[in-house]
Amino acid sequence: MSAKPNHLWNVWDVLRSFALPVAPVVKNYKLWVGCPFAEDDHKKDPRVFAHTNCQKNTVCASPRLLHLPLPVQAGILAHELGHLLAYHWWKDWREEAADGVVFTYLGGQIEYKPPLYLQELKGPVFRRLKDALP
Ligand SMILES: [Zn+2]
Ligand SMILES: [Zn+2]
Repeated sequence: MSAKPNHLWNVWDVLRSFALPVAPVVKNYKLWVGCPFAEDDHKKDPRVFAHTNCQKNTVCASPRLLHLPLPVQAGILAHELGHLLAYHWWKDWREEAADGVVFTYLGGQIEYKPPLYLQELKGPVFRRLKDALP
């Protein structure tokens, strides 16, 4: 876990670089940390740290994501990236479609663990991500 301000962008950039060969469109995708709606959503539901579908091609995240462990940060950002790609390819906003993108195209598995059932990134892509982080 790291609380450095650039940390989430590093995780995001590494995930995007992994997706780039199969999905060149990811170079247009942006991460916005601090979208006010992300804060509102989190207050209403403590499970919600990020969303898509608020700004075009953008994953919005709450800065609170910085305080979660790396597998969860990576899981949430990978899942949200999965949403953007599942929508881009199939016009599909379902949760399964987002996790399916992560599994099929990134080689990572999304797991949901209690108590909050937040996304955790597992599998080869998580190990590669850890190694690739600055
Ligand atoms: Zn937003
Ligand atoms: Zn989702």
